[in-house]
Amino acid sequence: MSEIGTSERPLRVAIVGSGPSGFYAAGHLLKCKSHPDLCVQVDMFDRLPTPWGLVRGGVAPDHPNIKAVSRVYEKTAEHPEFRFYGNVELGRDLSHEDLTDRYHAVIYAVGAQTDRRMGIPGEDLPGSWAATEFVAWYNGHPDYRDLEFDLSSERAIVVGNGNVATDVARMLALTREELAQTDVADHALEVLAESNVTEIVVLGRRGPAQAAFTNPELLELGEMTDADVFVDPGDVELDPLSKAFIESEAAHTTAKKNVDILTGYAAREPLGKRRRIVLRFLVSPVEILGSDRVERIRFAHNELVEADGTIRARATDITEELDCGLVFRSIGYRGTQLPGVPFDEQTCTIPNDGGRVRDRTGEYAVGWIKRGPTGIIGTNKRDAQETVDTLLEDLDANRLGNPSDPDRDSLEALVAERQPDAVSYAGWQAVDRAEKEAGERHGRPRVKLCSFEALLEAAKDATPAP
Ligand code: NAP
Repeated sequence: MSEIGTSERPLRVAIVGSGPSGFYAAGHLLKCKSHPDLCVQVDMFDRLPTPWGLVRGGVAPDHPNIKAVSRVYEKTAEHPEFRFYGNVELGRDLSHEDLTDRYHAVIYAVGAQTDRRMGIPGEDLPGSWAATEFVAWYNGHPDYRDLEFDLSSERAIVVGNGNVATDVARMLALTREELAQTDVADHALEVLAESNVTEIVVLGRRGPAQAAFTNPELLELGEMTDADVFVDPGDVELDPLSKAFIESEAAHTTAKKNVDILTGYAAREPLGKRRRIVLRFLVSPVEILGSDRVERIRFAHNELVEADGTIRARATDITEELDCGLVFRSIGYRGTQLPGVPFDEQTCTIPNDGGRVRDRTGEYAVGWIKRGPTGIIGTNKRDAQETVDTLLEDLDANRLGNPSDPDRDSLEALVAERQPDAVSYAGWQAVDRAEKEAGERHGRPRVKLCSFEALLEAAKDATPAP
């Protein structure tokens, strides 16, 4: 092993982003089985004052069990060689060179910060939203708290057949009582509880056999307290291509089970609940219509064709229109470029080999910015292990960065100068305490603080780390 990584010269690693992939990378580094004597210091930066990334800002409020994964990250954060610097943004407070001057390795774990677009007329009409905006709003992300969702119309359209689409459909269908037991942002609780939306139509461009839902999320749509799920029996009759696929070895059990679940839904008699979640297949929006806001959506009926070994949707001449006041496009997240860091415009990821940023020394990527916005939280564990293994290979081969100033005190001084309101892990713990205490008074897991001002104020109550 090179001399970096000894107690005299600890391996200094910066991680940009504090979501699951960043925390798994930190955890693997700090508990490194392949290098048991490694001395490593991990500094994690986030532009928000709060950690956990999409576990706080993405996972739906009615999924507390999924959020509980943050306990694993808390363990990592308690390691004495771990530091958190919240409210510190790469490109605003620190430059790429500030990091490469101070760390042997920099790991980018920034996820996918924006959404994909449908590219159809009317997409920017008021009432047409990216699902990512809605999700960030109901989860109390400070950048999105002032958005105004008008839920006065009776029908909302959700475009896409992934788990974010199921989250959006559920959040529109939960009752006030159900919402009130969650950590949904207060501003969203009121709006959602007063919603007039009674029909949520989820549009899939391909068929039931190609839906990207995972089984538990699809099953949940059939278990809503006050919403019936509705699938047209004609929609679950598989076309020859889908039938052959589902019966083939290539079909994943998730896809087979999705088809079974949807077939079950198609056979259901509606129970007359207040709301309906309608799952439609083989339809693609072609235009959103309205004079000054969303009033209608036009979509084409699709057929499935095989091209390059995959089953794709192709529009037919048949179109249909539905009145609606809201459209949520839930067709995937998209990565954005970090200042000073390579970026592949096609894949919207950082070009990398096994996590090693191409043509760079001592720079790595992990999570969605490494592989694209796919997989569940746990997928990031394996992904982070691969990146950390690559980094350690480079450590052993003496191929890491050669920082001019790899000193923790120097970094502390730089952060203090550039961002006096940086939030330490103890600062986040103070926020966490304040939110949980406020929640306890209302029988909720927490009441989120949703503005930078409130979060920074609460973070000031930090007791120094023991
Ligand atoms: P996703 O799983 O990739 O689903 C995107 C959906 O959008 C697909 O059905 C896709 O259809 C469709 N789509 C893409 N472009 C389209 C277009 N132009 N027109 C119409 N439809 C289009 O993405 P996601 O829902 O954003 O989720 C991201 C990741 O987070 C996923 O891995 C998901 O499982 C995960 N997640 C997990 C949970 C959970 O575990 N509870 C919750 C939320 C998110 P095609 O298949 O035809 O491309």
